[in-house]
Amino acid sequence: MTSDAHSALPAPTDEVVELCRDLLRIDTTNTGDNATSAGERRAAEYVAEKLAEVGIEPVIHESARGRANVVARIPGTEPSRGALLVHGHLDVVPADPDEWSVHPFSGELRDGYLWGRGAIDMKNFDAMVLAVVRHWQRTGVRPPRDIVLAYTADEEAGSEYGAHFLATRHRELFDGCTEGIGEVGGFSYTVDESRRLYLIETAQKGIDWLRLHAKGRPGHGSMVHDDNAVTALAAAVARIGAHRFPVVVTDTVRAFLEEVSEVLGIEVDPEDPEIAIAKLGPIANIIGATIRNTANPTRLAAGYKDNVIPGRASATIDCRSLPGQSELLERQLRELVGPDIAIEYIQRQPALETTFDGDLVEAMSAALRAEDPGARPVPYMLSGGTDAKAFSQLGIRCFGFAPLRLPADLNFSALFHGIDERVPVDGLQFGVRVLDRFLRTC
Ligand SMILES: [Zn+2]
Repeated sequence: MTSDAHSALPAPTDEVVELCRDLLRIDTTNTGDNATSAGERRAAEYVAEKLAEVGIEPVIHESARGRANVVARIPGTEPSRGALLVHGHLDVVPADPDEWSVHPFSGELRDGYLWGRGAIDMKNFDAMVLAVVRHWQRTGVRPPRDIVLAYTADEEAGSEYGAHFLATRHRELFDGCTEGIGEVGGFSYTVDESRRLYLIETAQKGIDWLRLHAKGRPGHGSMVHDDNAVTALAAAVARIGAHRFPVVVTDTVRAFLEEVSEVLGIEVDPEDPEIAIAKLGPIANIIGATIRNTANPTRLAAGYKDNVIPGRASATIDCRSLPGQSELLERQLRELVGPDIAIEYIQRQPALETTFDGDLVEAMSAALRAEDPGARPVPYMLSGGTDAKAFSQLGIRCFGFAPLRLPADLNFSALFHGIDERVPVDGLQFGVRVLDRFLRTC
């Protein structure tokens, strides 16, 4: 990517390390509360400055004090084609320094890795994109399509102050965007020395967070009492927690399993894929969650004194629905909890699913193969949700494609929100090369 003519300029593969380190050093912890979340403004200003420095004109959009988003458009040479949205969030989940080997906001370079909260989720991608477009601006490269860059706040707490704010209040920024790429896709899964699957996210489950409310008769804890809200709630929560919803293999998961079956040489029963999924090692947790609706109890609240039976009790359940199954899941849950427990939705965002075909998928696949001849791109479904949920509301076809070549022994999925989150420097540099190719050719 460096030519002799530009040998005095920093190579994007070098600059990405610096950019990522700088971003990791800005603490952008999202606590879910505007009063205690901090640093997004500083990170947004950093990004805006790095874009402006090379002649791109970014605008910072604040949704609330300090909750800052950066958006910029790079004009393409073929303006009649739809624009491509490239989005990454700047916030991170909290990290407790006592649990880490290095300080989570040190951006330390050690053993070939950049360490820090956000190294994988997702300041790595933020830095890669910055490195690529800065290099282009310095060397006069223009992409074929318009590229809209969006660096968002608040992804880690539901995107209300980030992607959802932009998509509802500033939708004009995304005029003409037909497709988009963002996080949790394009990473490698090693088959053997010469072959790697690259999981491109073409689907993600829906978010169906709900609260159960049980009502009973308040009373004294010492007496006989047959209408206890805590007992009723606990029984409902236990039923949900123990329940396994039926297996439903969607098109995306079917395509993924077919590839895996062929490449790994393992038998996959499409009606009962769990045995095969269990053999996938560190990604089994993600893939296993994409063959059925799930419901995990996460919070309980009841009572105010040890010897008083409260009149109410509530619990939060983190439910995730397969594409098209949100209403079905609601019916399944109502049946499980019974008529006396009320269900209140606190967050409901639809699942997404697109097909693994077309020019954009071709361009992703070609860029991966050019940089890794052993690359085998496969579609997959993410069990979580991303900013893509907000942007897809604008009719944008969203993919998870933040390319990263990973060492075979790295437990990638455990690094998301995990202790000692870190990104391999050579993986980061690989990502820059793939993105550079992809964005020039898509
Ligand atoms: Zn993320």
